[in-house]
Amino acid sequence: MQEMQQLGSLRQLDSNITKNRPLDIYIFNVQKIEGKTFNSHFEELEYLEKLGFNVNPVRIPCKTIEEVKNAIEKIGDMREDLTFGIDGAVVKIDNLKFREILGSTVKVPRWAVAYKYPPERKETILKDIVCQVGRTGVITPMAILEPVEVAGSTISKTTLHNEDFIKEKDLKIGDTVVIQKAGDVIPEIVEVVKSKRTGNEKEFNMPTKCPVCNADTIREDGEAAVKCTGVECPAKLFRNLVHFVSREAMNIDGLGENIIQELLDRNLIKNIADIYTLTFEDIASLKKNGKKFARKFN
Ligand SMILES: [Zn+2]
Repeated sequence: MQEMQQLGSLRQLDSNITKNRPLDIYIFNVQKIEGKTFNSHFEELEYLEKLGFNVNPVRIPCKTIEEVKNAIEKIGDMREDLTFGIDGAVVKIDNLKFREILGSTVKVPRWAVAYKYPPERKETILKDIVCQVGRTGVITPMAILEPVEVAGSTISKTTLHNEDFIKEKDLKIGDTVVIQKAGDVIPEIVEVVKSKRTGNEKEFNMPTKCPVCNADTIREDGEAAVKCTGVECPAKLFRNLVHFVSREAMNIDGLGENIIQELLDRNLIKNIADIYTLTFEDIASLKKNGKKFARKFN
């Protein structure tokens, strides 16, 4: 079962993004062929290879269920060294006549079954916990991790959700932690390796002041989230603006996070409505080739 390195690459609305991604494919089946017959799936794959198609080299013929178990284990051990991410291995009947006899149910063939590996886990160091202020003022603690490769991608940070999550896992800055990532799921901290504590780990407390605007923070009864109370918190405004121009809202093309940050930094906008009173010169001043960029917004 091959999982694409960069998930969602083919689902991109902008085909230029897809074009720039190093996509590749393994061909794994001869669906229909005329003037040639095969006895086994292996024969098919070898034929495809001879024709020059990319075929997954990781395939192990097995005669007994013991051999199947060993093959699954072997592929599991190879996982980290493969050039592509996998989340499982497929066991298939090789003999094509047997496949015909077995047929399929309404949904799936009876001659193939998938084995799913448990999510990949790695140990790394929780270097720091920083706080981000969201659109609604919610302050979210983020784990800064010693970069580590898990399931095909490098993980250097992950969300810690809220204060309760940190307490429940008993996370301290400097801890060795186990992280896991399954498929395209966001990586998560599973647990602390307490046996590796040195005594130098530091307790983390949610900030009593907003890290962006310095207003007081508050955690209301029955709520998990700590929030910034600042009415004019720039972090809230930034997140609001990013949301406002996004596809889910006004879908203003070209106004990325960097541009919004720049507009805020230069005091060109102080609220959402200001987007509509920006002048051509305002926008042109943001970039080297600003005039061409600004023309898009006319
Ligand atoms: Zn704030």
